[in-house]
Amino acid sequence: MIKFLDLQAITALHADEYKEAVSRVIDSGWFLQGRETKQFEADYARYVGTEHCVAVANGLDALYLLLRGYKELGLMQDGDEIIVPANTYIATIIAITRNNLVPVLVEPTWEHLEIDIDKVEAAITPRTKGVMIVHLYGRIAYHDRLSEICEKHHLKLMEDCAQSHGCSWKGTKTGALGDAAAHSFYPGKNLGALGDAGAVTTNDTELAEVIRALANYGSQKKYVFKYVGVNSRMAEQDAAVLDVKLKYLDEDNRKRQELASYYYEHINNSLITLPKRIDDENNVYHLFPIFCEHRDELQIFLKGQGIETLIHYPVPPHKQECYQEWNNRCLPITEKIHVQELSIPMNQVISIEEAQAIVAALNSFRY
Ligand SMILES: *Cc1c(COP(=O)(O)O)cnc(C)c1O
Repeated sequence: MIKFLDLQAITALHADEYKEAVSRVIDSGWFLQGRETKQFEADYARYVGTEHCVAVANGLDALYLLLRGYKELGLMQDGDEIIVPANTYIATIIAITRNNLVPVLVEPTWEHLEIDIDKVEAAITPRTKGVMIVHLYGRIAYHDRLSEICEKHHLKLMEDCAQSHGCSWKGTKTGALGDAAAHSFYPGKNLGALGDAGAVTTNDTELAEVIRALANYGSQKKYVFKYVGVNSRMAEQDAAVLDVKLKYLDEDNRKRQELASYYYEHINNSLITLPKRIDDENNVYHLFPIFCEHRDELQIFLKGQGIETLIHYPVPPHKQECYQEWNNRCLPITEKIHVQELSIPMNQVISIEEAQAIVAALNSFRY
């Protein structure tokens, strides 16, 4: 069986270093808001290319606190609109609605799978305060035109970088392309911790300070509470492990890009559509989505050939029970993606033999 994501094998690559990092934390007796978190924040900010990195408990909190920070600064208010791609993971949407902000769902393009920039400007209203782009599948969602649109309309440009660690646009990393960005270090991401973890990166000092306070019960000074905050801190052992993993991120991403290159050169089946190939700088291949009108049959067929696949994602946010008010909305490109998408194994431990087996199976699929 070729696993979709063998986290045991991935972790084993540098297990000794992780164990050393965790041991150091155990011996220190200091488990939150200590030296390890500070070090990771500094290293990750340097890697991304921002002045600030605020470590938090997970990616959803990073998204939530980013928007909440703007609200506490008076830059966004209840009922304000945030433009967001309709085909994102639910976390992006939850972070918006939990802040009493209104997500304005914009379709992606079928070609790039990322937010359709031509449709962004048309979605702007007097209540629009920001655009949250999502670099889904590890593909760049940014374009210079987005910055121009946001500047022209005085909107905050925010990034959901949960799937794009290490991806860049003309030499600038995702996480440093807009005004602020949220990152997830969920174990299965390109940069994953041993549990939940997340961060916000920004050059905005005021915003970083508010988010840091919000994540710590709203306190900037011990026992003095400026905001009704939340408890969202990164564990010291996760920061220590992430700091080790960060050293290998570019190398891991290169391996993903090599595997992608192999897939692009060898997958050849008229029933299967591959996503448009873009420069490696713009894609860190968190996932490798393929598209097929007979997706469910293809998934069963691959399973029979010993290949595990996943669907990202079977149901789009606007069709979810928790957002019934949008269930009747018609977003045809988003829905087509959700009906046809299948993610094949994509990570740094897939061997060439496994890649060959995956390609052979895909090429032999008939309907
Ligand atoms: C994983 C993910 C998140 C949420 O991250 P968690 O750390 O699991 O809370 C948000 N957005 C996208 C696009 C993701 O893939």
